[in-house]
Amino acid sequence: MASWLNYFNDLNLGPYYRDRAALPSAAASLVPAAAAPEEAPASPSPRPAPATPPKFAPTTTKPAAPAPFVPAPAGPSLFEVFDRVENDSLEKIRADLGDCTRCRLHKGRTRLVFGVGNPKARLVFVGEGPGHDEDVQGEPFVGRAGKLLTQMIEAMGLRRESVYICNVVKCRPPDNRLPERDEIATCSPFLMRQLDAISPKVICCLGACAAQTLLETSQGITRFRGQWFDYRGAKLIATYHPAYLLRNPSAKSEVWKDLQKVMAVLGLEAPKKR
Ligand code: SF4
Repeated sequence: MASWLNYFNDLNLGPYYRDRAALPSAAASLVPAAAAPEEAPASPSPRPAPATPPKFAPTTTKPAAPAPFVPAPAGPSLFEVFDRVENDSLEKIRADLGDCTRCRLHKGRTRLVFGVGNPKARLVFVGEGPGHDEDVQGEPFVGRAGKLLTQMIEAMGLRRESVYICNVVKCRPPDNRLPERDEIATCSPFLMRQLDAISPKVICCLGACAAQTLLETSQGITRFRGQWFDYRGAKLIATYHPAYLLRNPSAKSEVWKDLQKVMAVLGLEAPKKR
């Protein structure tokens, strides 16, 4: 025993064991460090504080801010390079679609709604899917929401025929429900071919479905509405769907701000009021 004590003394462990007697109990040590009384150390040789706080110590860091929206990387990915169809055209894409039965939406459609407008348009509007009027007429955006879109286009100093208008899915979802994930996955490659074939300067997504599909995100549109993204060589912006504006007219001013951004990129001026 005597030789053990001499050994501890040789290691200068005597003060360590004497200090332990003055330390608070294990239960008291669970009190957060910040609440401990600021007293002078009882020992003339206090041990240094541990470098890392104990695991039980409550964190005082602020809650993390929401993660910023992360768009799909700019420029064509490896897959996109192979996805691009050489010398593609709207006629070829329409012919490839044919009397499409690739997804369940074909069962309820009256007419397949491919897209309409200028095949060399500098501006393409992309919606979500045909509604009742579009299904009957075979043309996108011809109902009440379509009339509002036409007014928006004319307010930008353009004509409906000078832009291109299409949807993520080409057949009407039943009861005007949102297209489902597998339906979007089946139909959207044709939309992407349309965009590649037209090669517009600006793509304006109308509503969350179009924006989420092209930006490959599940984040809500309010997170990125009105911001610019690169999409396969074009500039992409998302704004609210005209059908949403019919239900929420107060959002029109926000949409007009987005459209003005598009006009600035395209060098357009709003027509003067008569
Ligand atoms: Fe084909 Fe698209 Fe219609 Fe589905 S929605 S049946 S994939 S055209």
